Amino acid sequence: MSDSYDVVVIGGGPGGYPCAIRAAQLGLSVACIDNWLNHDGGHAFGGTCLNAGCIPSKALLESSELYHRAQHEFETHGIKVGKTSVDLAAMQKRKQDISGQLTGGIRQLFKANGVEGLPGTGSLAGKGKVHYQPLEGDAREISAKHIVVATGSSPIELKKIAPFDGDRVVDSWGALEFDTVPKKLGVIGAGVIGVELGSVWSRLGAEVTVLEAMPDFLPMVDKAVSKDALRHFGKQGMDIKLGAKVTGAKVMKTKVSVSYEQGDKAETLDVDKLIVAVGRRPNTDGLGVEDAGLKLDDRGFVVVDDEYRTNLEGVYAVGDVIGGAMLAHKGIEEGVVLAERLAGHKGVAVNYNAVPSVIYTSPEIAWVGMSEAQATEAGYEVKVGQAPFAANGRAKALEMTGGVIRVISDAKTDRILGVHMDGPYVSELLAEAVLALEYGATTEDVALTMHSHPTLSETLHEAVLSVDGLAIHAVNKKKPGK
Ligand code: FAD
Ligand code: NAD
Repeated sequence: MSDSYDVVVIGGGPGGYPCAIRAAQLGLSVACIDNWLNHDGGHAFGGTCLNAGCIPSKALLESSELYHRAQHEFETHGIKVGKTSVDLAAMQKRKQDISGQLTGGIRQLFKANGVEGLPGTGSLAGKGKVHYQPLEGDAREISAKHIVVATGSSPIELKKIAPFDGDRVVDSWGALEFDTVPKKLGVIGAGVIGVELGSVWSRLGAEVTVLEAMPDFLPMVDKAVSKDALRHFGKQGMDIKLGAKVTGAKVMKTKVSVSYEQGDKAETLDVDKLIVAVGRRPNTDGLGVEDAGLKLDDRGFVVVDDEYRTNLEGVYAVGDVIGGAMLAHKGIEEGVVLAERLAGHKGVAVNYNAVPSVIYTSPEIAWVGMSEAQATEAGYEVKVGQAPFAANGRAKALEMTGGVIRVISDAKTDRILGVHMDGPYVSELLAEAVLALEYGATTEDVALTMHSHPTLSETLHEAVLSVDGLAIHAVNKKKPGK
């Protein structure tokens, strides 16, 4: 093992490990230090996303969705399976196996690309120096021409109102590891985690109440879409209370009693488990921020310029720790672009106007670019097209006809400004919309593109056509050319 590298990446999540791999692919010598420990005490690369976020949550979302469909849809398809039941231990093992396979894959990719994976903690130790404390053994100093901070984020704790106790009051990681389905589940925060994890446990049989402080549901999503999704969640039995301000949570022997105010009413909610999902904060503890003089903003995120340079020479940062959209793919893109730049390829940049977002509920919610309200506020004269899945043959075959696609375009240039949707597999449909934004496509470009029949993508095609009142299989809200 060397004591000197071209690049040392601190953090092996989606911001860090792709950065390390790409830098190595481009001929740089690279080490990646990472201190993630799973609940069994074992180290794994992959950070929050692979160990306690994207991957385990999607594994449980898929299993719980199948259970729900077996119970509620199979009969409609003419399939009789008798009484269905949940083997939660088997479900959890499958989830764990998937995470294990993917995190093990990173170790193999490091090996194949010549990245030195170093389990342990890294901190800034002066110009060109990283202090490395391995998980086992003595600390030592490593030299690096370039240091990349990719230390990610952790759940925000409501210390005064509902502190985590690791049993009844848990964060998102704890909520992925329940060993029984809670009868009654409370969730603080109707953000992405709140609705995804609320859905998992609701489909598995929990009575779920979500308390959201803000009056609007998913304010970043086009209003018509978030309204439609909220209606579906309500029908599924998830009770999402908006404008509900939690004032305290008292842990008792067999329950948690949550007090909250909604309007001018003081209310109480008794639950078996309480998930606190009110956002995430950057990980900079133990990084030697103060001694090194690393500049943070007032919310604790590392301050970078548009080339990911921090205020310290030779120190860069990417991923959740620099803020913006806290998404794995945003971190991956930043890490890869930074690696390219460190290797001397200057022409690449992340397009922050085309960052896709997905919420993996049922219906799924997905969007890229501006909502109608954001586009109007930005001063555009907006033209909107809309199509529901109700008229789509593939959606009917899937027995998944809920949801709508909205295309927001610039009336003057016809350019697509945003696509927001809820419905079946819209997470996959979103890629076409992202490409349209990336290429600066007009609605006419997409309208003239052939979409296979019968596929869900035809609903995106119809939504684009309906911008000019030309949808064939949806009722147009306007006449052609208007
Ligand atoms: P992290 O993944 O947090 O990785 C940082 C790593 O650095 C960790 O391993 C940490 O242990 C390590 N580290 C920290 N400090 C040090 C140090 N000093 N020395 C060494 N190592 C250190 N995003 C999506 O895009 N899609 C999803 O579906 C999705 N689902 C999610 C579901 C949940 C429940 C959660 C919690 C998050 C989800 N996210 C999702 C968000 C996604 O997980 C994060 O955006 C992503 O993991 C950020 O990557 P990162 O590399 O910046 O940080
Ligand atoms: P979030 O910011 O998405 O939502 C937090 C919600 O909690 C907000 O609606 C906020 O108004 C509410 N809130 C805050 N304080 C509150 C309080 N005291 N009482 C009641 N409500 C309160 O954060 P999150 O859901 O914790 O997710 C964290 C990050 O992880 C997000 O940035 C998200 O992008 C990422 N993530 C992404 C995915 C995905 O891409 N599918 C999945 C999970 C998490």
